Amino acid sequence: MAWTHNLGFPRIGARRELKFAQEAYWKGQTSCYELKNAGVKLRQRHWQEQQQLDLVPVGDFSFYDQMLDMSFTLGNLPRRVLALPGDSLDNYFRVARGRSSQDAEEQAGCCDGVAAGEMTKWFDTNYHYIVPEVDADTRFSLDASRLLDQLAEAHALGVNAKPVIIGPLTYLALSKAQDGSNPLDLLPRLLPVYAQLLSTLAKAGAQWVQIDEPILVSELDADWQHAFNTSYHELKSCPIKLLVATYFGQLKENAYLAANLPVAGLHLDAINGKDDVLPVIGMLAEHKVLSLGVINGRNIWKTDLIGLLDWLEPLAQRLGERLWIAPSCSLLHVPVDLGSETKLDPEIKTWLAFAVQKLEELRVLGVALNQGREAVTDALQANQRAFASRRASTRVTNPAVREALAQIDPRLEHRHSTYAKRAARQAAHLNLPSYPTTTIGSFPQTAEIRQVRRQFKAGTVDADTYKQAMREEIARSVREQEALGLDVLVHGEAERNDMVEYFGEQLEGYAFSQFGWVQSYGSRCVKPPILFGDISRPQAMTVDWIGYAQSLTNKPMKGMLTGPVTILNWSFVRDDQPRSESCKQLALAIRQEVLDLEQAGVRVIQIDEAALREGLPLRRTQWQDYLDWAVACFRIAANGVSDETQIHTHMCYSEFNDIIQSIAAMDADVITIETSRSNMELLDAFEHFEYPNDIGPGVYDIHSPNIPDTGWMVELMRKAAERIPAERLWINPDCGLKTRQWDEVRPALSNMVAAAKTLRASA
Ligand code: GLN
Ligand code: ZN
Repeated sequence: MAWTHNLGFPRIGARRELKFAQEAYWKGQTSCYELKNAGVKLRQRHWQEQQQLDLVPVGDFSFYDQMLDMSFTLGNLPRRVLALPGDSLDNYFRVARGRSSQDAEEQAGCCDGVAAGEMTKWFDTNYHYIVPEVDADTRFSLDASRLLDQLAEAHALGVNAKPVIIGPLTYLALSKAQDGSNPLDLLPRLLPVYAQLLSTLAKAGAQWVQIDEPILVSELDADWQHAFNTSYHELKSCPIKLLVATYFGQLKENAYLAANLPVAGLHLDAINGKDDVLPVIGMLAEHKVLSLGVINGRNIWKTDLIGLLDWLEPLAQRLGERLWIAPSCSLLHVPVDLGSETKLDPEIKTWLAFAVQKLEELRVLGVALNQGREAVTDALQANQRAFASRRASTRVTNPAVREALAQIDPRLEHRHSTYAKRAARQAAHLNLPSYPTTTIGSFPQTAEIRQVRRQFKAGTVDADTYKQAMREEIARSVREQEALGLDVLVHGEAERNDMVEYFGEQLEGYAFSQFGWVQSYGSRCVKPPILFGDISRPQAMTVDWIGYAQSLTNKPMKGMLTGPVTILNWSFVRDDQPRSESCKQLALAIRQEVLDLEQAGVRVIQIDEAALREGLPLRRTQWQDYLDWAVACFRIAANGVSDETQIHTHMCYSEFNDIIQSIAAMDADVITIETSRSNMELLDAFEHFEYPNDIGPGVYDIHSPNIPDTGWMVELMRKAAERIPAERLWINPDCGLKTRQWDEVRPALSNMVAAAKTLRASA
């Protein structure tokens, strides 16, 4: 009998119930009791959804983040919150977001301004975890209450519970030492707490524990490999079976290490790490379970069950009871239930599977393996029909796009002249002062803008009224910028709800869900558009708006586009062709838009690549391949223009050291980046590389409502000018201003323009 199990279920709820419960609590509208109760209900519902499995995850639910949960379980709380009052959930939220609940904090007159923990991306996903803080003095102590409570809840409901925890090595590898010490040195102090936790779970009736060690799919140096061996030897005597879970990639050189850990079972990502499967089977001792993650936990496509069974049945023969099957990783990364979707195109809907549907696929597979395919004939046939329909659909394959792709010529990637020649031509007709000022694109998305958009989508406001309202916003942005004295203006992006969705909605080949939310961090969810078919651009997407904006001013108006790599990285993508192919199609569509903008007289065009860095593969050895095609796609999109047209790009981060060569290869005339919080030190990468083109290092942090001081921005730019020749510097904020209020934007930009004037005067 092959067992079926799951590594984790999305916790936000099919209607984002968790988000609304969290936010109500944070606003002080509900009690801690009500919030906890919302958690109980969600867990209960989610366990019901999984009841057909042989083992159901427990402890995967979280009120904010699973790493933060683990820090609390291990008693590793930042010292700054230790003495603070309230429920332990309040301290939990203080670490997560700097405060617990607005009202409670204000009433108690305390705790305001506790620094929130740092947040960073969970491997190559768009989920963000709270980084555990450690130092050489960190001590751990067990608090198993969360896991024990949830285990008791599950047992009371008759759930076949399998507690899920983060493993000790992944925990330490993802920790950050505040004092420069090596987190691995804490292992001897940490392991006894893990041993205690495992014994406690065993006593509470758990038979298996899933212990997540995803760092096994990354490059590990000898110390860490050794630590894996010693740690699991030390935990071996615990009276419970351990399933070490790895996911998101291939074990490769760590396969031997993983296969030989003294544990009862190993879970592999059989989608992204399919090549590990046979070698690992060969290495795995006879008594160990091998769990294969055969249903993709990172995308929203149906699984080809027949194809999978053809591959899996011989393995099941060979492994017998030792084979388990599961999704490749936690289903945290996919939306909850396709059943909620009423507006999705019916044909496309038959091709998709969200978390609930993926677990149904798993059940069908389990039955087919254990009782024979005949036992699930109908389900298998329906699956096959859906597959055949997707493969044959003319909406997936567009011959004209295929043809255009085949015609891509390396010349498409090249500007006519070198940067130096272009820069001279652009200077001659843009006629900008030194230290030119600009912004990153968006201006405040006011309540009025959002209201009109909602009404337009609901059909209560017609297209003309909507267009007029957006034009008024654009006109207002232009007036404000002229009054401020900015040099290169933007239209303000009033008409865009989201920088990817806006383009996706206008491209052929994209579909949109109503409830396809995926947790990004805390209560924040994103609804990635679904890239299902060949991409084409039936008509211009931005030319009307930008052209209108340009008609209102004599200053250069910067056209604003999202780049192909960012659109790709923030979408659910196809599994029937490589990412690079989808990206090239997007690049051709954006290229057409760039050329149309140029044709319409727009002489500065910004192509945002906010998510370029996010797409980097987990293993460094694969970075170059990704960077090569990503940069090529940007160049295809950007480089069709004449020398006089100035191409900008923007990236919302600042770590460029390891990718600077590729950034330079993009060859944008101007790049704007985030730097203000680092005191311009992050320009070092550009300095050392002798980055040749213009740079706009963000001079103030748009995430904060604080108004930046002129003198401070002048100082920052002087520091920048120590690294980059002044004639190649621009002055701009860190990122777009859509989350700010006009009352904040106006004084901030006014000070920024004053800083530019001071610098020009003293040049
Ligand atoms: N142009 C976009 C804006 O200004 C860029 C946003 C981003 O980089 N995330 O909002
Ligand atoms: Zn940005």
